[in-house]
Amino acid sequence: TPTWIYRTRPTGPITGETFSLEDTPLPEPAEGEVEVATRYLSLDATNRVWLTEGALYTDNVQIGGPMRGVLLGEVTKSRHPQFPEGTHLSGIGPWAARFVTDGKGFAPFPLPKGADMAEAFAILSVAGPTAHLGLLKIGGLQAGEVVSISGAAGSVGIMAGQIARAHGAHPIGIAGTDEKCAALVDHYGYAAAINYKTEDVAKALRAHAPKGIDLHFENVGGPVLDAALANMKDFARLTICGLISAYNATDPVPGPYRFGEIVNRRLTIRGFIILDHLADFPAITQDLARWMADGTLRMPTHVVDGLDKAPEALNLLFEGANTGKLLVRL
Ligand code: NDP
Repeated sequence: TPTWIYRTRPTGPITGETFSLEDTPLPEPAEGEVEVATRYLSLDATNRVWLTEGALYTDNVQIGGPMRGVLLGEVTKSRHPQFPEGTHLSGIGPWAARFVTDGKGFAPFPLPKGADMAEAFAILSVAGPTAHLGLLKIGGLQAGEVVSISGAAGSVGIMAGQIARAHGAHPIGIAGTDEKCAALVDHYGYAAAINYKTEDVAKALRAHAPKGIDLHFENVGGPVLDAALANMKDFARLTICGLISAYNATDPVPGPYRFGEIVNRRLTIRGFIILDHLADFPAITQDLARWMADGTLRMPTHVVDGLDKAPEALNLLFEGANTGKLLVRL
């Protein structure tokens, strides 16, 4: 079965040498196993992080082994009572057309009634839970607060704006084009949006939040994080969700220039990884499914067709070429 194998560690963006598409054997499922046909791969910025050497929050992908990612699959052969044939399941699996698993790390995928499969997967698998956890449990967002969100037109940012708005907060987005900024305000709950490529972000944040920011939700890092640090209220909080501007870096990345604001403003900065919070997923999924059903939550999907396109598609995230959730359809 076609499978992407990790061959050469990239310095900088993924290249044609990083992976090779190989035909790997597909065993018959043994007792307690299922065969799964992959329907959608979720492409996530952290896929690039897994290709690096050294200590991570999870296992690195090993050279010579299959690339992996979050996926939505359909059981095509079953010898497992929890996953009968035809079941849709999601979890972390290989970048392969088909694979055999004992089901560990997979859960039945609850397709909400009437929902579009790709949009539901895009909301419920990674981006929705990440935004929900990062804003509410980790960030402690309250109604009436000002929350600034970088990477706002990416999958996590689009979820975060809508969830923040549903909580009665005032979300300000930061994204890379005027079209993305307009869509954030017109369709995805943002009260205002700033183009970090054409505007002075620190100044624009001051204009949109003259009394300062209560919570900053960081997806990007670098100069955008400094601009937020310059505008925090006393005792404000920062949730560090990701630092995508550094994932392709070949040299050590400098820390925030305005580090001193942490003391000046008595800030609390907290990082998190969703995998530590799986016990919260049932309750979070309920919230997300309810908001999907009542129209509070929408996710644009950017779908690339064909397993063979997965590696080059992953680079779109780092070029800002996606709006919303980047998926590969098989
Ligand atoms: P997104 O769909 O958000 O896409 C990435 C977007 O980031 C791009 O479209 C681009 O938009 C922006 N971007 C890329 N490079 C840069 C740069 N150098 N400077 C500024 N903006 C940039 O990707 P994901 O949803 O996969 O990930 C979003 C973030 O959430 C990542 O940091 C990821 O690591 C993090 N994450 C963290 C999790 C956790 O458990 N902590 C779980 C899941 C995701 P633009 O046009 O605006 O530049």
